[in-house]
Amino acid sequence: MTRVNVHPLVSPWGRFGLYSFFIDAPEPAIVDTGIASSPADGMVPALEAIGRRIEDVRWILLTHGHIDHVGGAYALWELTGRRAQVVIHEADAAMLRSRRAHVDEYRHGRGRYLQDPEGEAKVTAAANAVISGEMEPTMLLKGGETLSLGGGVTVSVHSIPGHTPGSVAYVIDGQRSVFVGDAVQVHGAASGFPGYVDPVAYRASLQYLRDEIRPQHLYLGHPYRRADGTPYGVELDADQAREALQGSLDIEAGVGEAVCRCLQDGLRETESPYSPFAPVAERLGYTGDPALEPSPFFTSMHGYRTHFHQNS
Ligand SMILES: [Zn+2]
Repeated sequence: MTRVNVHPLVSPWGRFGLYSFFIDAPEPAIVDTGIASSPADGMVPALEAIGRRIEDVRWILLTHGHIDHVGGAYALWELTGRRAQVVIHEADAAMLRSRRAHVDEYRHGRGRYLQDPEGEAKVTAAANAVISGEMEPTMLLKGGETLSLGGGVTVSVHSIPGHTPGSVAYVIDGQRSVFVGDAVQVHGAASGFPGYVDPVAYRASLQYLRDEIRPQHLYLGHPYRRADGTPYGVELDADQAREALQGSLDIEAGVGEAVCRCLQDGLRETESPYSPFAPVAERLGYTGDPALEPSPFFTSMHGYRTHFHQNS
C-alpha cells in the first residue's frame, strides 16, 4: 500500500497557532478542528493550495474535547454538507454537545483555585465565541475501533486518557502515523506547564504510546517546548517522538514528586498566585502565570490532589 500523505493545516488564534491535520485518503479526514473561524479561514485556503476541497472531507476525527480542538467541528461539518462523520470518545462527547460543559469543567477544576470572580463569565464568553455550534457526534468511540477511510486505508483508535478523560490517539495503520492531540505535553505549550486532569492515566498513556504504539511519525496539537523554551514542531519523526514521550514522562515524574511532598506537608493558602501549591512552583522553579487560560498548572494540581485523596 502506498503511504498516505498528511498535511498540517494551521489557523491563528491569539498567541496560539491551532493545528489540524488533513489525511489524504480516498475518504479524506481532518484531525481536530481549531475554533469556529478555523475551517473557513485556515482549512479552506490550505486545502485549496494542495488541490483538495473541504466539501470532500468525510471524517472529522477529534482527539479530545477541549475548546481549541472541537470549536470548529460544527462549522467544518456544515462545510462538508453534513456528510462527514464526526467522531469523538464518549468520555469527552459532552464538550461537543454543550458549551456549558466547558464552563462546568472550569468550575470543578482550575476555577476552584483561580479566585477570579469573573472567571466563569470569561469561560462562558469564550465558549460562545469560539465554539461554532453544539452538536451530537455521529460516532462515539470507546477505544479499539478501526475506521475505514477507503482504498484499504484504515485508522485505529486507541484510548489514551490523562490530558482529558476522552483523549484518543488515531493511528494510520501500516505506517505508524500517530495523532495524539494534547496527550503528549512535554513542558506544555505557551504556559510552560503540562496539563492533565488525571496524572496516573497520563503516565500510563505515555508509556503505552512509547512502548506499544511506537510512533514513526507523531503529530502534536501544539508546538510544545523543550526545557530551554525552544518549541518542537508539530510533526515529529521517530527519534523526536521517543524524546518527547520520554521527556513528558520525566517531567511528570518531577511534578508528581513535588506535589506529593506538598500534599504530605498539608496545603496552605497564601498570597502566592500559585496558592495553595506555592511550594510546588518553588520546587520546580516554575515562574509562568498560573492564571493564563487554560491554566494547566491548576488543572494538573487538582488532578494530583484528587488522586492523592482517593488513595489516602
Ligand atoms: Zn487540550
